Amino acid sequence: NLSDRLIETFKNLRSKGKLSPADIDATLREIRRALLEADVALDVVKNFTSSVRERALGDEVSKALNPAQQVVQIVNEELVKILGGQQRKLSFAKTAPTVIMLAGLQGSGKTTLAGKLAKWLKDQGQTPILVAADLQRPNAVNQLQVVGERIDVPVFAPEPGNGVGNPVNVAKDSIKHAKQKMFSVVIVDTAGRLGIDEELMTQAKDIRKAVDPDEVLFVIDSMIGQDAVNVAKAFDDGVGITGVVLTKLDGDARGGAALSVASVTGKPILFASNGEAMDAFEPFYPDRMASRILDMGDVLTLIEQTQKNFDETEARAMAEKLAKETFTLEDFLDQMQQLKKMGSLKSMLAMMPGAGQMRQQLENFDEKEIDRTEAIIRSMTPAERRQPKILNGSRRSRIAKGSGMTVTDVNSLVNRFEQAAKMMKTVAKGGVPQMPGIPGM
Ligand code: GDP
Ligand code: MG
Repeated sequence: NLSDRLIETFKNLRSKGKLSPADIDATLREIRRALLEADVALDVVKNFTSSVRERALGDEVSKALNPAQQVVQIVNEELVKILGGQQRKLSFAKTAPTVIMLAGLQGSGKTTLAGKLAKWLKDQGQTPILVAADLQRPNAVNQLQVVGERIDVPVFAPEPGNGVGNPVNVAKDSIKHAKQKMFSVVIVDTAGRLGIDEELMTQAKDIRKAVDPDEVLFVIDSMIGQDAVNVAKAFDDGVGITGVVLTKLDGDARGGAALSVASVTGKPILFASNGEAMDAFEPFYPDRMASRILDMGDVLTLIEQTQKNFDETEARAMAEKLAKETFTLEDFLDQMQQLKKMGSLKSMLAMMPGAGQMRQQLENFDEKEIDRTEAIIRSMTPAERRQPKILNGSRRSRIAKGSGMTVTDVNSLVNRFEQAAKMMKTVAKGGVPQMPGIPGM
């Protein structure tokens, strides 16, 4: 993946200190390949790498303390920029109801999204109504009704037995109905086709005219790959969109579609959908998606914070120790003091890759544990700290007494240290750190 490759490339660069244009081009080749692998459209990749190149050859890199890291930073910043920079919020109408129209190909996730959006708005105190303006497929109305029941939100649909209704009329009537019944948000679900087609575009455009929406959200399956650009352009040209929703981010798509769509349409991505459940949905954060595309978790942020707080020379000495595999309990203690310096450990841990699933553990995290760990290490002799292997039973019980802890506490610290040493080795080899080894977890 990209992060491995970049780390590899940067390891070579780091030893040089300064980057030459050739170094930068080599790095850009890796980035280019990775973006194409993440299914970002070719034109988008080209534009992207040329803007990164321009910055990378400039002053900010040549003057940086760590030029290689600065390049990663630039890559990240440029990705975030294309993805819209700041998170864009849903716009509401000045006078209710706010009308949100959904458009996109069949199977992109519109109907599911209609439900998620309605639930999300309802949880915020809005009173949404869903509108079944997809009369294309026999089962579409019923599907929306099932969704509505699941989240307990009413659905406006054509009267059954009225033959096949006209979706434009249904949409128009729904607005009247919403005004009468004081619904605050109207979510209009529309029909999609398997591919872009004239009739579909015309219908969507007519619905748009009929309901005069505050938002036209283009819903796109993030697994769509290279096609994303054409589909997004067709909908933006044909219907006119105000924003984008990415669905199926729970799949293994790396989010290249996000970059393509945002770059080609210039429209912000408002939400990300990541599962079939009604609450598998969240506002879209450009910086998180950039990290996902880079496949680096929030490692960059972590690097930044660490860089601010870690003393350069200390960090270098640590790296040398790691390379020589002479990481000791004394280093462990130093490291913990550095960690404390870094302020809120919790928020730092939350940025590490994989921390999402560890939220529960983070909740239980106890910073005092660091103090207890420190007490134990302080009760060890220098020899014991340097060579934890010599810690036999009697030494452990002496240390426990000295620090006011139990032998179990001492044992568990030694175990954690061993895990940490393993973790540090991984980091030294350029891998992504795993969680154990941090005291208190
Ligand atoms: P529509 O044709 O655009 O209305 O798409 P649907 O809402 O009917 O969704 C098509 C299929 O994709 C359904 O089986 C949904 O359950 C599924 N789906 C929708 N959103 C997501 C998502 O975020 N993740 C996953 N895994 N499946 C989704
Ligand atoms: Mg549908």
